[in-house]
Amino acid sequence: MRLFRIRGGVHPNERKDATKDKAIVNLPLSEKLFLPLQQHIGAPSRAIVEVGDVVKKGQLVAKAAGPISAAIHASTSGTIAAIGPHPVPHASGLMGRAVTLIPDGKDEWGETMPPLSDDADPKDIANRVADAGIVGLGGATFPSSVKLNLGERHDLDILLMNGAECEPFLTCDDRLMQEHTDELIQGIRLMARALGVKQTIIAIEKNKPKSAAAMEAATQDDAGIQVVQVPTRYPMGSEKHLVHTLTGRETPARALTADIGVVVHNIATSFAVYEAVKLGRPLVSRVLTISGGAVKEPKNVRTALGTPIKDLINFCGGLTEKPQEILSGGPMMGQPLRSTDIPTVKGMNGVLALTAKDTQRGQTHACIRCGTCVSVCPVGLMPLEVMRNIQNDQLDAAVDTGLMDCIACGSCSFACPSNIPLVQNMHYAKGHLTAQQRTQHRNEEAKRLAEDKIRRVEKEAAERKAMMEKKKAAAAAAKAAKEKAAAEAAAKEGGDA
Ligand code: SF4
Ligand code: SF4
Repeated sequence: MRLFRIRGGVHPNERKDATKDKAIVNLPLSEKLFLPLQQHIGAPSRAIVEVGDVVKKGQLVAKAAGPISAAIHASTSGTIAAIGPHPVPHASGLMGRAVTLIPDGKDEWGETMPPLSDDADPKDIANRVADAGIVGLGGATFPSSVKLNLGERHDLDILLMNGAECEPFLTCDDRLMQEHTDELIQGIRLMARALGVKQTIIAIEKNKPKSAAAMEAATQDDAGIQVVQVPTRYPMGSEKHLVHTLTGRETPARALTADIGVVVHNIATSFAVYEAVKLGRPLVSRVLTISGGAVKEPKNVRTALGTPIKDLINFCGGLTEKPQEILSGGPMMGQPLRSTDIPTVKGMNGVLALTAKDTQRGQTHACIRCGTCVSVCPVGLMPLEVMRNIQNDQLDAAVDTGLMDCIACGSCSFACPSNIPLVQNMHYAKGHLTAQQRTQHRNEEAKRLAEDKIRRVEKEAAERKAMMEKKKAAAAAAKAAKEKAAAEAAAKEGGDA
């Protein structure tokens, strides 16, 4: 297959050796699990359990609260101990609402959903994925059922399974592809069926030859699935760049890859789809990589969703030194975790405890206008210009210079010889703009409600006035009729006399 070159990109040290040959191991259940109600892009789920409820593994604990939302299920059997604020993995560092579940130790499944056949109706597959609460497991956390329904509104021809796993340290997708090849392929076929596409491409970076060999062997008799090894170049795993590499198609700014005929799903999502459709099991666990220079025994673990990070780290032998930072996800795009009480969530593909040597964050110097950040930016921005606008508090100008097109890949910060935290500035500005937009939306909504109220009051007053006038007119008419009748009666009496 002809591959197209992506713009920019960098080659960070892969650091995958610590876990790439380590088989996935199951983490024992924690004493308490915490299930945040916001584990996906969209509206937070609505809890349907109460404190004191006894639940089975896989039982629905929170419903999707709208078309872009996702259901949440109990990760094990036990008792609901609380529903309220708890530390959650969010860039803001704020608490979020979570359901606290105390496991009973039996890990007993409740009633599972009936398995669907390979030739199930495409709509039934997408509905099952929604019922199972599956979201993109690569970190994007967009509800997968919504993406599986995109064929209704878009002219699609390719399902692209993203097995690039381009972030340093992370190897959980690599291990899944080697250890659960058949389940992944079954899940991928079901996803292609739901989308109604005939061509599927599984993209794997060249640094994972064992995964590529396993996936090729499992699909050699299937003309509809192609395994393609793509160059090891960060951020190859970015949806739009992967689509361009494999098809040469450019996704317009702020458009979806579906607009150019391609739907991209993370490879791990197909495992969750397999479990939901073929075993009737909702998403209650996931595989993630625990690594970084401060972790004693880095591992790939399968863990119940809601497990506190500290239990994952302890399972890996604990920390050898105080980490400089603990991240959810990879070092390029990962988010700092402010507490190890934070639980694992659906989109968390790794936990990294990084030392100062890992981060290699030197002192920040002034910009020397070398242009390196421009040459590595995969979306063609001038990061130094965007950042200058941000620092001058000119967010409109930052937007004009492409702030909203930034995919926060971190390539510019990584490559900058002056160690300028460019991507951190982008994050800050985007967060600020989002907060501004929220406030503006709230103000507009309040204004609209106030105007509606004034219009309603005026309308009611006008209606009352009209009614009074009508009553008055009716009373006057009645009075006149009465007077006329009295006059007629008097005239008649006079005539008779
Ligand atoms: S890479 Fe750093 S030093 Fe070079 S132009 Fe960009 S911001 Fe300035
Ligand atoms: S973080 Fe944004 S500005 Fe920096 S290289 Fe990536 S896309 Fe470009």
